[in-house]
Amino acid sequence: MGYTASEARYEEMLYNRCGRSGLKLPAISLGLWHNFGGVTTLENARNMITRSFDLGITHFDLANNYGPPAGSAEETFGKILSQDLKAYRDELIISSKAGYYMWPGPYGEWGSRKNLISSMDQSLKRLNVDYVDIFYSHRFDPETPLDETMMALDHIVRSGKALYIGISNYTAEQTSEAIAILRKLGTPLLIHQPSYSMLNRWVENGLQDVLEDNGVGSIAFTPLAQGLLTNKYLNGIPEDSRAASTSVFLNENNITPEALRKVRALNQLAAARGQSLAQLALAWVLREGRVTSALIGASRVSQIEDNIAALKNLKFSQEELDRIETILKT
Ligand code: NDP
Repeated sequence: MGYTASEARYEEMLYNRCGRSGLKLPAISLGLWHNFGGVTTLENARNMITRSFDLGITHFDLANNYGPPAGSAEETFGKILSQDLKAYRDELIISSKAGYYMWPGPYGEWGSRKNLISSMDQSLKRLNVDYVDIFYSHRFDPETPLDETMMALDHIVRSGKALYIGISNYTAEQTSEAIAILRKLGTPLLIHQPSYSMLNRWVENGLQDVLEDNGVGSIAFTPLAQGLLTNKYLNGIPEDSRAASTSVFLNENNITPEALRKVRALNQLAAARGQSLAQLALAWVLREGRVTSALIGASRVSQIEDNIAALKNLKFSQEELDRIETILKT
């Protein structure tokens, strides 16, 4: 059966302006890092993407290397786009990135002009699109002059392959420098994509100020700490979880007694607010309006539905915020 989008798709979602740009992003975006590659079923991926769009998620975040295997998440998204979402291309923000290892030899990773432009072209083919909406330098390259990396991003926009550009995992200082170079080139930095969650707050130490002062948006990745900030691991490690999978990014060593102590206390606080822990974690990331969008992952439709419902209560009392600080310090 072909897909027709829900007519109600714009009724519940909040859209936040991305820095001082003309672009608005949904308060919750969907990332395709895990669970959309060649090892997962196309049917589940299709259900998650179409349900997301029906719920107002217009922004889908990819990278050249998402899968596994690397490249397969872009291929999956490209198939679903052609089959189901073609008529909605102008309602979608599709992001991709280059910078992590993708192919052998000296040009398959990092931030050279050669890597970024070749990888961009490969992503367009896998996604089967003429352009992406946002293209990122996925990580800072200490060996390539930052001017070269930024000139490559500027070129990508000027050649029509991306509408906007972003950077990811850059420190506050590297970000300031990138902003200044891009300003001179005439292609402003749209967005930064850092990790950020209740368990990982490095952005509060300088980066958020740089972004705010310069009118750059931000999209927080792993806001649920890859599932740790949900009710998922409260009673052990479920077989169908990321921690039980072959993922090298989350395993049983990350599910420590200290982390679980915090997670249990946060879970109680969430319940008192009438929220799931995932909803509390997302509302907290979005709490001061400093984050444009929370970038979630999911392995099933029900998680996306649970997460979107966070938007029903984004307000915190000072008492709740203080309680969270106390829990996080214990
Ligand atoms: P999250 O912190 O949102 O973790 C997602 C995982 O949490 C899901 O796969 C699922 O785990 C679990 N989960 C999600 N919702 C719920 C729920 N309601 N209840 C219970 N469990 C839930 O983010 P990710 O780590 O997936 O990263 C999100 C996106 O961020 C990526 O897809 C990518 O786009 C981006 N990213 C960017 C990086 C960068 O360097 N720029 C690095 C990493 C991510 P399970 O699969 O076990 O069910």
